[in-house]
Amino acid sequence: MSEQSFRERECIHRTRGAAGEYFQGDTYIKHLQRLRTNAAMRIASNVTAFFWADAAHVIIWLCRDCATELGVGEREASVGPHVFSQG
Ligand SMILES: [Zn+2]
Repeated sequence: MSEQSFRERECIHRTRGAAGEYFQGDTYIKHLQRLRTNAAMRIASNVTAFFWADAAHVIIWLCRDCATELGVGEREASVGPHVFSQG
């Protein structure tokens, strides 16, 4: 029990083989809230939906284009899902 409590989401471009990184849900939302509504909605429509209340337990894979548009930098990228396996 209690193996992986995080949930993984991704942008729609992943299936096309785009390069990208994992980001924490918190980071994703923090940046999303900084954007204007139009931009935020455009990005959000590319990412599998989740409850914002669960952001601390969600990791999101974003392709470079989505990450750039969102305004997240590589230094904010997570190294991968395993870092969320505890805590
Ligand atoms: Zn994307």
